[in-house]
Amino acid sequence: MLVLDTTLRDGEQTPGVSLTPEQKLSIAKALDELGVDIIEAGSAITSEGEQEGIKAITSEGLKAEIASYSRIMKSDIDTAIKCGVDCIFLVAPTSDLHIKYKLGTNRDKLLEKTLESIEYCKQHDLVVDLCCEDGSRTEVAFLRKLLDSASEYHIDRFTIADTVGIMTPEKIELIYSELAKTSRVCLGVHCHDDLGLATANTLSAVLNGAEAVDVTINGLGERAGNAPLEEVIMALKLAYGRETKIKTEKLSHVSNLVEKLCGIPVPPNKAIVGENAFTHEAGIHVDGILKKPETYEVIKPELVGRKRSFVLGKHVGLKSIKKALDEMELKVDDKKLGEIFRKVKYEGDKGKKITSTDLEYIAKTIMGEEIKHVLNLEELVAVAGNKITPTASVKMTVNGNEIVESAVGNGPVDAAIKAIRNATRGIPFELVEYHVDSVSGGTDAVVQVTIELKSKDKIVKASGTGGDIVLASVDAMIAGINAVARKLG
Ligand code: MN
Repeated sequence: MLVLDTTLRDGEQTPGVSLTPEQKLSIAKALDELGVDIIEAGSAITSEGEQEGIKAITSEGLKAEIASYSRIMKSDIDTAIKCGVDCIFLVAPTSDLHIKYKLGTNRDKLLEKTLESIEYCKQHDLVVDLCCEDGSRTEVAFLRKLLDSASEYHIDRFTIADTVGIMTPEKIELIYSELAKTSRVCLGVHCHDDLGLATANTLSAVLNGAEAVDVTINGLGERAGNAPLEEVIMALKLAYGRETKIKTEKLSHVSNLVEKLCGIPVPPNKAIVGENAFTHEAGIHVDGILKKPETYEVIKPELVGRKRSFVLGKHVGLKSIKKALDEMELKVDDKKLGEIFRKVKYEGDKGKKITSTDLEYIAKTIMGEEIKHVLNLEELVAVAGNKITPTASVKMTVNGNEIVESAVGNGPVDAAIKAIRNATRGIPFELVEYHVDSVSGGTDAVVQVTIELKSKDKIVKASGTGGDIVLASVDAMIAGINAVARKLG
């Protein structure tokens, strides 16, 4: 089974995504380490920046085969050759709709031009992956003719693209089982997710003879995107027992990198790589998981580089709270536990996500323990605007000592956080995550800021809520740093 990743070509065609050559290279390196067989690095003819990116990738000496998308045109192929690629992902539109309306030609001329292009690539010792664009809407007899003729010219792979995402697993079965009967070359499959069937269609192709899957990280791609690498690989492995060279424990890391560099957030409920994919809230589920993880978990989180987590909200169960308190080494009796449980439910009903810092606060208040605040904010000023460098100053007490600090940043939130950072230099921590949710719509929306701080091997989550994003961010930071300080103290 071969895995062709097209995050850097089809994935980059996601509306709003444009990668610099350096960003392309860092994604390519991560894909190589992940173990993909073929990296479609881009479409060389697109622009000079694209050529620079592809050249940077081909110069890196990666293990993966590096391909460029090319139309059946000498100019496209020549430009790809100049970038030093190993393989031409040669795209020929094959449906009558595309041949007639897009190209204004006919099947015979299309076939002739395709074969000429293959011959030209082969004269340059290139691997050729012939991809039938809109192949899923191409008459199977014509696909067969293309496959047979192209095989005479020694193509290496023959890929059928469901360019518009109209296939179903049954229709895919008809096409692949027919072509696989006599094919002498590796069959590939390239699916789009317009009907949410890209993964299912890709799997159907594999079950019916495809040996190469075209996928993208996080399912990025034109319109609704392509078949997601993480889903296809994990389904092949867990549901069908088919192995690939993918080092699955790196999936989460690569997904995060692509999310960050492409700027397209992964939905929280996305399979395998979504924030919630290994997060449990409901009391019944958490109880089951604590007794035996398999009760509600079919994928071991570590297998894809993730960690299991529990969140506390309105569906919380007593056992989740008990477990979280145990982890904080807070011992409570059953009566107090009941009170804490009711308070968490009450906050959860209001839609609040209860972080570990919130729980600690709730528990200690109910237990009548004094909560030690290392940090107290006295004053905060943050200014931003046109023709002004965003600046913030804070006056706070740290362990009883008054400290005044200021900082500039790329916005008022950044400046305020940096000012707090300056005032708390003695406390070792790193801000690993900062996230804003708008609780209600409109410009007067209430926002919830969630942050994650890392200090040594401890992770602390804290949140701040309010109508002022700067204050909510500062509140979250101060709650988080106080929690860090308590853990260290
Ligand atoms: Mn595509």
